[in-house]
Amino acid sequence: MKKVYLDYAAATPMAGQVREAMAPYYDKLFHNPSATYLAGRTARAELESIRHRIAAVIGARPAEIIFTAGATEANNLAVQGIMDRYDGSEMLYSAIEHESVIGPAAKYPSGEIPVDSKGLIILNKLSNLINDRTVLVSVMLVNNELGTIQPLREISAAIGQVRRERAAKGNDLPIFLHTDAAQAANYLGIHTSRLGVDLMSVNGGKIYGPKQSGFLFVKAGTSVEPLIRGGGQEFGLRSGTENLAAAAGLAVALEMAASGRKAESVRVSGLRQEFETGLGGLAVAVTINGSKHRRAPHLVSAVFTGIDNERLMMELDEAGIMCAIGSACSASRHEASHVLSAIGLDDTAARSTLRFSFGRHTTADDIRRTIGTLARLTDSNR
Ligand code: PLP
Repeated sequence: MKKVYLDYAAATPMAGQVREAMAPYYDKLFHNPSATYLAGRTARAELESIRHRIAAVIGARPAEIIFTAGATEANNLAVQGIMDRYDGSEMLYSAIEHESVIGPAAKYPSGEIPVDSKGLIILNKLSNLINDRTVLVSVMLVNNELGTIQPLREISAAIGQVRRERAAKGNDLPIFLHTDAAQAANYLGIHTSRLGVDLMSVNGGKIYGPKQSGFLFVKAGTSVEPLIRGGGQEFGLRSGTENLAAAAGLAVALEMAASGRKAESVRVSGLRQEFETGLGGLAVAVTINGSKHRRAPHLVSAVFTGIDNERLMMELDEAGIMCAIGSACSASRHEASHVLSAIGLDDTAARSTLRFSFGRHTTADDIRRTIGTLARLTDSNR
């Protein structure tokens, strides 16, 4: 029987057009862009043209795009790049950031911005937490466990106010806003000036592009220290021979995401609506985590009251349906997800949470089959 894949927030299958765009760089156009003979110069021109296309999608200048191997590296470069540059400064990050922000932040003086029960950051708490040494604020655009969309424009405006106050006081420490947009590009605009961000992480693996592809947008005038030193590629910020195939695949994936965004958001929202209606009709009590109004359309985090999430996930898998355990309590790490505890879920509710995420190949039939299977698996009389 056909499998039902409902874990697009974890990984997306590569689009055929992406694969086609990558293929030439593995053999015909394999040359090193740093080589000075004609083929090397051609590779350099190709890379710069790809950079140009990516910049166009996010409203940036080409020199503001630093290719990385995915969003984890981009997040590490953003955090360490800024924090190492401004010694003795501090950073803030939201309580629901991905581990690839929280992990590097732990190396520096840092604080958490609390979120409310819907997973939205509390803006006046952010303003109170910013002090004269705060140089970086990192708030993700779409949360990977809840789908919650953060009010980045308002956060950016609050940071603008801090800049003005610092200028008036003669404090010349800059303050930057970073966003991890890894879950966003399929459904939301990620135009950097509209979001008001100084740094932004994007990856290919969530937008039907190659895994380990991605970039960090670094706004002109934002000074960051490199993570990886060597030959000085990527404007000195990310040494190593450039991966043209990954960059080419990423560009096509990003362009496709941008052109399909509106229609796909409407289609996937419809599927989510149908799924949530189905969840409401189950015999077991189901509550949806996160904000109803500020949520990316592809993601549903649901508490199946009284049901063990690992067991339900395994039973769904046996029935051919793939989803994720909302609480990241992996077998080796028996602690509830920091995201679910940040929104106030207790351990019991967190251990009853599953995450379902939809994508390009999800159909109404997949949704109906999943609801039917959930009805069978959660029926207390079975
Ligand atoms: N940030 C968020 C919000 C994510 O969902 C993920 C992937 O799970 C990452 C960062 C890490 O991305 P990558 O696997 O490209 O390093």
